[in-house]
Amino acid sequence: MREEFLFMEVEQAREAILANIQPLEPEEVPLLEALGRTLAEDILAGENIPPFDNSAMDGYAVRAADVAEAAPDRPVVLPVQADLPAGSAPAEPLRPGAAIRIMTGAPMPAGADAVVPFEQTDEGAAGARRATGEVRIMRAVRPGDNVRQAGEDVRRGELVLQRGTLLRPPEIGLLASLARPRVRVTRRPRVAVLATGDELVDIDQPLAPGKIRNSNSYSNYAQVLKYGGIPLLLPIARDTVAEVTDRIEQGIAQGADLFLTSGGVSVGDYDLVKRVLHELGHIDFWQVRMQPGKPMAFGHLRGVPLLGLPGNPVSAMVVFEQFARPAILKMQGRRQLRKPEIEATLLDDAKSYADRVRFLRAIVTQDVTGQFTARLTGPQGSGILSSMVRANGLAIIPKQPGKVSAGTRVWVQMLDWPEVE
Ligand code: AMP
Ligand code: MG
Repeated sequence: MREEFLFMEVEQAREAILANIQPLEPEEVPLLEALGRTLAEDILAGENIPPFDNSAMDGYAVRAADVAEAAPDRPVVLPVQADLPAGSAPAEPLRPGAAIRIMTGAPMPAGADAVVPFEQTDEGAAGARRATGEVRIMRAVRPGDNVRQAGEDVRRGELVLQRGTLLRPPEIGLLASLARPRVRVTRRPRVAVLATGDELVDIDQPLAPGKIRNSNSYSNYAQVLKYGGIPLLLPIARDTVAEVTDRIEQGIAQGADLFLTSGGVSVGDYDLVKRVLHELGHIDFWQVRMQPGKPMAFGHLRGVPLLGLPGNPVSAMVVFEQFARPAILKMQGRRQLRKPEIEATLLDDAKSYADRVRFLRAIVTQDVTGQFTARLTGPQGSGILSSMVRANGLAIIPKQPGKVSAGTRVWVQMLDWPEVE
């Protein structure tokens, strides 16, 4: 049986999976529902932002040349021609030798080329309106000072956001300023989550001798949600051909774009799953040179990709992170598929393997000098979920016989940091 496994490196397995995954179709959503989605269109600016030259300060719009000689001990006195609040259009051009009182965001009147902030006039920081009809300017300004130019943020016609961009709050704001109430994003994949095993009991059922709780469905469901997928929770399948087949049919009927199974792929029991999967499609069983999570399966069922995660709770999550996560992101059209890896000083000794990369649960902290350190969060058995709970990263222990000693710099994959390209 063993010779049917294909041996693969982690990177090679990830590439092989991603080569079989394509972005889904676009759909249109209201802007306020677009957070966390991926743009499926290039956004060209239809207008300038800001749309007109406007004041960056509360103060007085002037001709810079008129106040070139102004100084605290030699103020230039100008008549105040008008008052220009934000939101109103200037009624008249600035007369030579005069000033227009202007608020932040108000359009620059024709003829004015700079703004003197209140703080540099006798109106003072308080900005209290004077009844004199005059303003004393205490400082010179240069043309353009305190003026925001039309189009200085975004120019009309410019490509402002590219297809494949993750929409975060700043992108949502930019789209709003470009008057885009709806936006085209890539559809979220429907990801069927299926736990297999005769020993499994669901969380609302009493435990019986020899049984354990199904936790994988829940951690995998949460992972699918975390990375933008729509999880479809399928009922636990016993280790029978009939139940596994039935669950897969249910998933297909619910429109699954991707299947995630857990369990039933280790050397001992994969024969059952293999039989089912070969009947419905084409599945390869792989041994990826990683720990935890050596055995896994990948293939297609009725044209739907399936990733077979190992059964052990931590293995299922770690394998999800390495392979399912980038697949789910790629389906959403995302360009950034990799978790950032940072270099940190390992604070514990870690056993290493000559033939497999290890992903060890670690908590990364930053000390006062800015250095990152990584402490292992406890026992690293593949079933020990509590050490996964305490971890914020996976320390990557390279393939080598023996161990990696405390004090060594290692790369740590940061599980809760957003992906990079
Ligand atoms: P398997 O790959 O099916 O041989 O499972 C390996 C180990 O993971 C066994 O100890 C299983 O009991 C355990 N396991 C499998 N599926 C789950 C699950 N859904 N939730 C929790 N533990 C599981
Ligand atoms: Mg099993």
